[in-house]
Amino acid sequence: MNKKILTQAKNILSQKKLQAESNAEKRKIEAINSSKQFKNLYQDYVNCMIENAKNGGLKNQVEVKKQECNKWLKNNNFSSIFPQYSCKHCEDNGYIDGKMCDCLKKEITNILIEQSGFGKLEKFEDSNFSKFQNQEEMKKLYTLMQNWCNQNPPTKTLIYLSGGTGVGKTHLVKCMANALIENSKVVNLVTAFSMNQDLVKAFTSFDNDLREQTLQKYLDCEYLFIDDLGTEIKQKGISVNMLYLILNERKMRGLSTIITSNLNINDVRDQYDERISSRIIDKTTSICIRLNGEDLRLK
Ligand SMILES: [Zn+2]
Repeated sequence: MNKKILTQAKNILSQKKLQAESNAEKRKIEAINSSKQFKNLYQDYVNCMIENAKNGGLKNQVEVKKQECNKWLKNNNFSSIFPQYSCKHCEDNGYIDGKMCDCLKKEITNILIEQSGFGKLEKFEDSNFSKFQNQEEMKKLYTLMQNWCNQNPPTKTLIYLSGGTGVGKTHLVKCMANALIENSKVVNLVTAFSMNQDLVKAFTSFDNDLREQTLQKYLDCEYLFIDDLGTEIKQKGISVNMLYLILNERKMRGLSTIITSNLNINDVRDQYDERISSRIIDKTTSICIRLNGEDLRLK
């Protein structure tokens, strides 16, 4: 995982945790100061907790005392004095038993999406097909892609969506990204242009750390969307090789890549190379879809 992004995401979570705890602390003081009765209930609860920490065996009683506090608060119109974490599963720690919690994954994705500049994502459910001439086929394609997003893990790890401008590729991609995020996947959305710039910058530098961090951004996410392949300005010796490396490495790791492009597969072979075009048309691991304005062919 890219260290910078991971640190950023963890910081956001620990801010949320701190906030939840400091809000709880304020509410607690308020409740204690307002009622002697509550103060005693709360003291009982704390004593029981301390006793349990020392000698154990009082877990149930701690819970009972906590419920008594909650009951009093509710009856007296106070909000809970216990922290209201944004994630109930990990209490905003980001990890459960050493495994990354979905909430941390979500924060990572939020950062990646924000950096991508794609703006607002779309929902499959809200898609409007009236602007398409081939509505039925579009609906079929959307259903196919929606089902693919719900596969866990997907049987095919590369999706290639090609077709001219205005056939709805980017809209479809935004729906897919959103669906995957809702399934708690780590998703990165980039344009081929910006990914290429990023890689060229790193690989023309002599900074090994930068190279590693840059590559990780494209290798670690569970789903990588590369929009508009073919619009980047290729740098000899870097662009094509790095694209191949990313596609290949992701395939080996079983991670999915979704590419949109105006280029058909022959163009890809001509403008990149045989390795990349073969990777894309490999039927065992890829789904290639050609979108035409009127005539949509699923291949
Ligand atoms: Zn969590």
